[in-house]
Amino acid sequence: MSISQLARSISDSPTLRLNEEARLLREMGQPVIHLGIGEPKNKAPITAILSSAAKLNTGEVKYTPTDGTPSLKKAIVRYMEENYNRVVAPENIIVTTGAKQSLYNILFSIINPQDEVIILAPYWVSYPEMVKMVYGIPVIVTPKDGTFYPRMEDILEAVTSYTKAIIVNSPNNPSGVVFPDGFIAQIVEYCEAKGIYLIMDDIYHKLVFDGMHAIAAYSCTKKDLESTKVIVVNGVSKLYGMTGFRIGWVVTNRKLVEIMTNVQAQITSSPADVMQSAAEGALNGMQSYVESLRLTMENNRNVVMQELKCFTGIRITKPQGTFYCLPDFRAYLHNSEELASFLLKKALVVTVPGKEFGMEGYLRLSYAGTVKDITEGISRIKWALDPSSPKEIYIGDRKLVRDWL
Ligand code: PMP
Repeated sequence: MSISQLARSISDSPTLRLNEEARLLREMGQPVIHLGIGEPKNKAPITAILSSAAKLNTGEVKYTPTDGTPSLKKAIVRYMEENYNRVVAPENIIVTTGAKQSLYNILFSIINPQDEVIILAPYWVSYPEMVKMVYGIPVIVTPKDGTFYPRMEDILEAVTSYTKAIIVNSPNNPSGVVFPDGFIAQIVEYCEAKGIYLIMDDIYHKLVFDGMHAIAAYSCTKKDLESTKVIVVNGVSKLYGMTGFRIGWVVTNRKLVEIMTNVQAQITSSPADVMQSAAEGALNGMQSYVESLRLTMENNRNVVMQELKCFTGIRITKPQGTFYCLPDFRAYLHNSEELASFLLKKALVVTVPGKEFGMEGYLRLSYAGTVKDITEGISRIKWALDPSSPKEIYIGDRKLVRDWL
C-alpha cells in the first residue's frame, strides 16, 4: 500500500489510543480505571438536549452556512461580549467541528511550507502534529527554569524570520497551570509588534480554581479585531462537557474567517446542523451549569492533591484549572511510556506518558472522572511504585500482590 510521506509522519493520538486499549481491557472484564482522557462524566445541559431534539423533530436537517448557523453565531457574539468584553460581528466568527478543527483550519489558512509555529511545552499533543500536517515546522519552547510557566526570554530565543504563529493554551493542558496576566500581556504586545499570529486556545478558560481567572488576550491589546494578531479558539467540549457534540469556533478578523470558510467548504461543507442547535442551546441556557462543572473539577483537583501528597517520590505543581495534572515521576522511572504501560499492565490504571506533551519523566493524570476513580487510581499507582505502601491490594475481590519491589 502506498501511503504519503506526510501521512506516515503523523503520530496517532495517544489519548484516543489509550482510550481504545482501556475499552478493550474493560470488554475483557478487567476493572480498568481511566485517568487518561479529558472528559467530564456530566450529562449535557438540558437546554442543549432540548434544542437539538427540537431540531431533529422538524425532520429538516440540512447543510448549514459553511461558517455556522446565524443563530449559533449570535449566541457566540453574546458569549464574546459577556466573557471577553469584546463586541464582535458574526463575520468575525467561524463555527467548526470541534476546537480541533478550528485549530487545524487556522493553521491551514496561515502557514506556508517551512513556516515555523512556536509551541510552548508542556503542550497539547495535537499542536505539533497539526503544524506538520500543513507542512509547517513546530518549534518547541520549554521553560529553562524547569517550571510549567513559559518565559518570554526562552520564546524570544526561538523566534526567527520564519515564525508565523505562537500557540498559547492557558489554563493549560496537560499541566493545569494558568499563565500569569503579565506573561499574556507581554506576549500579546510582542506578537502585535512583530506581526506574529497569537493563537489563544481558550478551551479551558472557564475551568479555573481558587478564585483565579484566566485573562483574555483581547484585554491586553488596543487594536481592533480587524488588525489584531490575536486569534481566539473556544468551544463547547470543555465548557459544558459536550465533547461528543463536536462544536468549536474561531474569532478573528473577517478576512481570515473568509479564507477559513473557503477551506472548510471544501472539507466538511459545514459543522453538523443538529450539533450546532445543541451548542446554541447550551450557550443560551442557564450558565450555572458551567459553574457547577467547575466546582466539581475544583473538588476533584483537591482530592488529587490530597491523594498525591502522601506519595513521597513524586513532585507536583498544583493545577489552577482544567482537569489535568502533570506529576513528575522521574524518581521512579525516566521513560514515561514504559511507566504508563507498566501501570496499565500491573495496576490497570490508564495514564498518559508525559513524553507526548514534551515532558519526559512525567505522567498526565486526568481528574475529570469520579472521586472514587481518582482515589482508587492513585492508590493503585502508589501500590505499584512505592515500596513503602502495603504489598497487597484488592481490585474488586481480586487480591494482587506486588512481587517486583
Ligand atoms: N485544545 C485543547 C488544549 C484540548 O485539550 C482539546 C481537547 N482535548 C482541544 C483543543 C479540542 O477540543 P474539541 O473537543 O472541541 O475538538
